[in-house]
Amino acid sequence: MKLVSSLPLLISATAFMLAAGFKRGRIALASCHVGLSAYILVKAVSSGLDRPDTYVLFTLTSLAIPAIHAWILIQRDTSPLCRKGIAKLAVTLAPSCALLFMWSRPGLLGQWMPELSPTLLETLGEHSLLSIGSLWLFAPVLGLSLLLTLTRRTADEIALFGALAAQMLAISLLKQPHLSTPLLIAAPALLIFAVISHIYAMAFVDSLTGVPARRALEHKLAGLGRQYGIAMLDIDHFKKFNDTYGHDVGDQVLRMVATQLRKVQAGGSLFRYGGEEFTIVFNGRKEEEVVAALDEVRQRVEHYPMRVRSPQRPRSNRQGKQSREGQAQESEQVTVTISIGVAWRDTDEQPSVVIKRADKALYKAKGAGRNRVMTDGPDPRRQRRTRSGAAA
Ligand code: GH3
Ligand code: MG
Ligand code: MG
Repeated sequence: MKLVSSLPLLISATAFMLAAGFKRGRIALASCHVGLSAYILVKAVSSGLDRPDTYVLFTLTSLAIPAIHAWILIQRDTSPLCRKGIAKLAVTLAPSCALLFMWSRPGLLGQWMPELSPTLLETLGEHSLLSIGSLWLFAPVLGLSLLLTLTRRTADEIALFGALAAQMLAISLLKQPHLSTPLLIAAPALLIFAVISHIYAMAFVDSLTGVPARRALEHKLAGLGRQYGIAMLDIDHFKKFNDTYGHDVGDQVLRMVATQLRKVQAGGSLFRYGGEEFTIVFNGRKEEEVVAALDEVRQRVEHYPMRVRSPQRPRSNRQGKQSREGQAQESEQVTVTISIGVAWRDTDEQPSVVIKRADKALYKAKGAGRNRVMTDGPDPRRQRRTRSGAAA
């Protein structure tokens, strides 16, 4: 039983080490906070809440949990092991450490018992230990956390919201350890889930465009069936964008292209292959359907009204400041196009061979004037030149 009650602390320590290792500042703070709070709650129950000292410790902890959580929610994700991160950690842990220290002096916390307001003594119900006062603090912090979850939609926010809700329920059900202990374990477990999903994203999702990365493509290729097609896509004259407008605008173009390519039909799965190249894998679809879907995204990119900052740069910082103050920075509309090569798997062909043939078709599309879809194959009737909807 002792092992079970120490599990929340052990899992919190694991969550902290993972979060610190992967520089997840807020998750690291939350892991320490959740772990220490769980330790205090378990200790309070085991030493008897009928003791005034322990009851005050419990009451103040149930107020400190949402208050510190709110502070963590509004922090930036600084590395937990730098000087600033350590200072934040100290601020996070200070209230709970101070409470534990005072609790260790018999009679010190207990003398505040008569001072506790009725809202802190009155609980939600006979079976609940959550006071009305504590609920008044939990409710807005849960609201803020939910708002951040809905607006940011990240695993970190989901985990922080879930951890706080689990802690609130654990406090409420503290008299029933078979219910409260799993909740105290769930809180740091959710934080571990957030770090793991971050690690997953680092390995499988391209951070610039948000689409699955090369490693995810390798997994996809390993699990393909017998019939599939692979398209290789490359932005035309992309180097010129970087040279004319700068690398940031180049990145903006890459993001726009990725957003348009995500809309591909015919069940295509999009990946960033590398640089300004993307790959779309079509599983078990007909050639006509795939070519039509690829041509549709080609047109989407071509017709996207892309506005970029004009290339003229101010000659000096002062001039730049004046122009920024005087008027909004000038922008211009540019046309971005992509070339696409697509190949279908022949009997017993490995995906790497199909990719090579798709690359060959892409090379032909570039040679034929760019902004077109071309298929690989020796039969010239299979070659499609689908520029502006026309097919040859
Ligand atoms: P082509 O039409 O023949 O494909 O010409 P291109 O200029 O697109 O091809 P090239 O291979 O010469 O240039 C690719 C450029 O893509 C070079 C590189 O600087 C740029 N690039 C690759 N990855 C990124 C990136 O993540 N961001 C930005 N801004 N540029 C990138
Ligand atoms: Mg290229
Ligand atoms: Mg290119």
